[in-house]
Amino acid sequence: MSTVLVLNSGSSSLKYQLVNPASGEALAVGLVEKIGEPVGVLTHEVGDDETTRELPIPDHGEALRLVLGLFDEVGPSLDEAGIVAVGHRVVHGGTAYSHPTVVDDDVEAGIAALAPLAPLHNPANATGIKVARELLDVPHVAVFDTAFFATLPEAAYTYAIDAAVAKAHQIRRYGFHGTSHEYVSQRVSEVLGRQDLRQIVLHLGNGASASAVASGVAVDTSMGLTPLEGLVMGTRSGDLDPAIVFHLRRVAGLDVDEIDNLLNKQSGLKGIAGRNDMREVRSAADDGDPAALLALAVYRHRLVKYVGAYAAVLGGLDVLTFTAGVGENSAPLRQEVVDALGFLGLAVDPEKNAVRSKEPRVISPDGHEGPLVMVVPTNEELAIARLSVAAIS
Ligand code: AMP
Repeated sequence: MSTVLVLNSGSSSLKYQLVNPASGEALAVGLVEKIGEPVGVLTHEVGDDETTRELPIPDHGEALRLVLGLFDEVGPSLDEAGIVAVGHRVVHGGTAYSHPTVVDDDVEAGIAALAPLAPLHNPANATGIKVARELLDVPHVAVFDTAFFATLPEAAYTYAIDAAVAKAHQIRRYGFHGTSHEYVSQRVSEVLGRQDLRQIVLHLGNGASASAVASGVAVDTSMGLTPLEGLVMGTRSGDLDPAIVFHLRRVAGLDVDEIDNLLNKQSGLKGIAGRNDMREVRSAADDGDPAALLALAVYRHRLVKYVGAYAAVLGGLDVLTFTAGVGENSAPLRQEVVDALGFLGLAVDPEKNAVRSKEPRVISPDGHEGPLVMVVPTNEELAIARLSVAAIS
């Protein structure tokens, strides 16, 4: 057996999974939270067994040392599991990194240098890589959330602003959730046995994004320079008139950090309905809460607009796929969105739509002649593990 340790380092957290890329099995799953706070929390799960530790965890180096200690203590042993690589989720690859990349000192510095494009994420990702390279003597591979969108045509990635300003500050559409969009669109092709498909993938989690994929190549996506653009999300606004930012500054008197916080953390479902969790919004809407009903209506309206726009970009549509927490689990949302898109020939079978499963599946009626609707559970950790193995082979 060979396995990959997949690491996702946040500013105060470290998520990990030990994955068998061949079988897709996760041998261990864990999370270190509250790094740098007075008391940190480490949770390590192996099958149904969960080990929890609460203690001060000053930095990411100490977090990873504790995690490795738990692998030794409660297993599985990394040596016996045949660890061949560490795969690191890195949010921003800029224009420099368009493929999974084996990390050396230059790549590590390159990722840190992209901090201006992803100030919250890349410094943490770079720290995670640094400490992991010190502690684990196997190849390390950086897998970039932007990479799948390196193929976007110039017309799709260019913002219509002063070209010199855009160039000087690397302002363009990069796109995010790329590992998920790539994995899901490939699974669709595998399941249907066809590569030449015009696909739209809706990744609807707490963050949400849409992509248009033609024959396996990404041609448009809704997130932009940052993950703020596009769909309505749990706490992010998605698309808005950029002049709202000036208005908030000049008329409402907010400073830039306050506006950043408002649009990224206090908007989206949370902004409209006071809750960012779709289950809570749905249940409040079912109870007739007007704000929750409005939040759902705005969320759906944006989705319908994007699917229509991307069907136009693709010159037609063969498959619409739902993935991530909301996309995989909310049958009512899928039904409502597809009902609004009936003019494109889309339809769902209510019984198939109601099935809960971890398997990819078509939810259009049997024998349906129009474009298909699918649900494909995403698995970014498995995708990172497989991309890491491919990068070192
Ligand atoms: P993710 O970021 O992919 O983990 O997705 C998180 C989102 O999925 C949250 O907004 C959850 O409310 C939502 N979610 C999870 N399960 C369900 C469900 N059964 N129905 C609706 N939304 C769900």
